[in-house]
Amino acid sequence: MKLDAEDTIAAIATPPGAGGVGIVRVSGPRAVAVVQPLFRAQGKLTLERAPSHRMLYGWIEQDGQPLDEVLAVVMRAPRSYTRQDVVEVHCHGGALVTRTVLELTLKGGARLAQPGEFTLRAFLNGRLDLTRAEAVQDLVGARSGWGLRVSANQLRGRLYGEIQALREDVAHVAALVSAGIDFPEEDVVFAHREDIQRRLHGAESRVRALLESAERGRRMREGLAVAIVGRPNVGKSSLLNALLRESRAIVTDIPGTTRDTLEESLDLGGLAVRLTDTAGIRDTADQIEREGIARTRRAIEQADLVLAVLDGSAPLQPEDRKVLELAPAAATLAVVNKMDRMSGAEPPWAGELGALPRLALSALTGEGLAALEEWVRGWAVQDERPLLEHAILTNLRQTQAAQGALSAVQGALAAIEDGLGEELIAVDLARALDALGDIVGETTADDLLNRIFAEFCIGK
Ligand code: GDP
Repeated sequence: MKLDAEDTIAAIATPPGAGGVGIVRVSGPRAVAVVQPLFRAQGKLTLERAPSHRMLYGWIEQDGQPLDEVLAVVMRAPRSYTRQDVVEVHCHGGALVTRTVLELTLKGGARLAQPGEFTLRAFLNGRLDLTRAEAVQDLVGARSGWGLRVSANQLRGRLYGEIQALREDVAHVAALVSAGIDFPEEDVVFAHREDIQRRLHGAESRVRALLESAERGRRMREGLAVAIVGRPNVGKSSLLNALLRESRAIVTDIPGTTRDTLEESLDLGGLAVRLTDTAGIRDTADQIEREGIARTRRAIEQADLVLAVLDGSAPLQPEDRKVLELAPAAATLAVVNKMDRMSGAEPPWAGELGALPRLALSALTGEGLAALEEWVRGWAVQDERPLLEHAILTNLRQTQAAQGALSAVQGALAAIEDGLGEELIAVDLARALDALGDIVGETTADDLLNRIFAEFCIGK
């Protein structure tokens, strides 16, 4: 669909349902003209004559009758979110009130905005590049304190700045190479060979660093995937519930990856964690119980961190050993549960855990839970704190484009090594520039843009 940027669009910008305020947002050349007839300001000012960004107090009227007591503000182009004239009407936050005000603006000539259309306009009018537009959406959907900080950095242009610096470097090289095409008698590439190679190697390692940031960035945004595994009755469900009670906020319920696992998302001191509780492991030939093992294997495969729960008040059993065998040594914590029923600090079989880090707690009394949370946070933070200071790729679209840029830069380097002609080197460099341009949205096709913005919420 072609969205006409000259249409004046309107939408409810606040979430559906009742709330303190509900905001109807109108953007476009006729924004003031659409809202002006509906709004009776108290005092002498009208919307048309109001200074930009000044809140006016007054009433929205329907058929000459007062409908709601509101605040209205005009943000004149280009000092607005969309860089067009924007009018916002802050109503009392009832679903019917905001709907009615929206309908009045539509009757007055505005068109209902598509999801993300306000941000699309901000992008098309050059206020935001694509990475910052995506950061807006990430910010809205952030599920942890860290996710929020990553999005805020992105919104301030950290990734954009890094990509622009890379593009300048590659463009510089491309200019040198095309000088060689224009003056074939002089061996420009040869003369500047060292400079060219140094810049391209630099670009290569910076794109690599970005790609390496992507996976960790995802983890920070979407949350650390933590699997709780162990044989039946060691206390997995009790642990999950205890952690959920302790956590600052239960953010969302995500459907489990399989029907038999339970997945919960929580914010652990700013760190988003997705906890998966699996059915227990039993090593027998029985069909259902074999399925239990398969589930545990899958959960372990998909997890960043495994909490292997053991019953500290009972002897270690063959099924426990099986769990320990499946769990990856570098990303497993042995959780020795039921410490309230243990006689010593460690169970007699603790030696069997070898070098595996371990922690004793009681899911029943809550003893040791805080230490567990601290351990998980510490484990996650060790390699992620520096990430916050850097540009991070935050979605698959950006990652794929960065991969394209990497392979193009490597192609150019190989072409230079092989002594190929300038034309061939130039092709790779153009590919690299295109791919980098895609990340910030400068070379991105319209239909793709529409698809990206369609993921946004209405009114954003
Ligand atoms: P799951 O099968 O691994 O999910 O285990 P459950 O969470 O269902 O717990 C099995 C049993 O152990 C239940 O009766 C729990 O009340 C009990 N339990 C769990 N954690 C503790 C604990 O820390 N101390 C004690 N004494 N009992 C516990």
